[in-house]
Amino acid sequence: MNTYDLIIVGGGPIGLACAIESQKKGLRYLIIEKGAIVNSIFNYPLYMTFFSTAERLEIGNIPFSCLAPKPGRQEALEYYRNIHRYFNFSIHLFERVLQVEKLLNTTFKITTDKALYEAANVIIATGFYDIPIEMEVKGEELPKVRHYYKEAHEYAFRNVLVVGANNSSVDAALECWRKGANVTMVIRKKEINSRVKYWAKPDIENRIAEGSIKAYFESNITEIRGAEVEIETPMGKITIENDFVLALTGYKPDLAFLENMGIQLSEDELKTPTYNPETMETNVEGLFLAGVICGGMHTHKWFIENSRVHASMIVDYITSK
Ligand code: FAD
Repeated sequence: MNTYDLIIVGGGPIGLACAIESQKKGLRYLIIEKGAIVNSIFNYPLYMTFFSTAERLEIGNIPFSCLAPKPGRQEALEYYRNIHRYFNFSIHLFERVLQVEKLLNTTFKITTDKALYEAANVIIATGFYDIPIEMEVKGEELPKVRHYYKEAHEYAFRNVLVVGANNSSVDAALECWRKGANVTMVIRKKEINSRVKYWAKPDIENRIAEGSIKAYFESNITEIRGAEVEIETPMGKITIENDFVLALTGYKPDLAFLENMGIQLSEDELKTPTYNPETMETNVEGLFLAGVICGGMHTHKWFIENSRVHASMIVDYITSK
């Protein structure tokens, strides 16, 4: 079995930040990532723009240069790939961690789909972007229903229903409309989410006000069929013609994965994992959380900007023990 001081599960920005700190402190570490490096960002919409400025996405004090005020997906991929070229991480890509077990109260056994490892400490930095939150309506399993949006081209000249009123939904609705789609939005609340990027919010509100994009507020989809959808609105049930549904209703972390390792979750709907906010150590000694996963179902609490710091908090604590 391969033995390490530290195994980092997840090769997103925060997993990489943890690796940089481990490297600086001379720890024998390994990152295990189930997909490509920074796999969540790789899966973002092709033309998305971050709400953060480039310097707030930096890790390891390596400058992230960008000509526009905010970087996009392509530049972020370039940046994090260069980070790996610079630090030459110890990393296994396309290897999924299946289980983390504590052995005799001392070390951890890490089982992946390829090998077994042993480590004195483990950081879980697995993010939240792999499991879509489903609407649980009839017809959701149809192939025309998508929980991830990549680009507008295939939606051009089609009837597209966008569900939700957060950043992902607003970006998708505007892009599809600009490429010639007939866009309708179904929004559970009374208005567009206040967290929507400051440049996109007036854009979508104006498109809705002028009638270019149709929006049903305080409404829910009740059924999806091959060529139409049924929507419950304050004026009653309506049926509209439909070719695609972009159900951008959010994503959730793999909480069962955490529970299987013995991490306790809060009993309320947020399912916040238990950890010490000064060291990021969970209720299982030697097992740490970093990045967006720390918020449980509150997936907007932590992001790259404010969770980069978890890396030094954890590694400083491990090396001081
Ligand atoms: P992730 O980047 O999600 O990385 C987790 C990694 O773990 C993934 O690569 C995943 O493949 C891997 N993984 C999961 N399970 C396993 C397993 N069992 N075994 C091995 N590997 C596993 N944040 C900002 O700060 N600024 C922004 O402007 C911003 N814009 C965003 C725009 C969009 C469209 C989205 C969706 C998010 C945005 N965020 C932004 C949030 C930000 O992307 C996340 O906070 C960030 O990715 C968190 O990094 P992370 O390393 O914690 O998780």
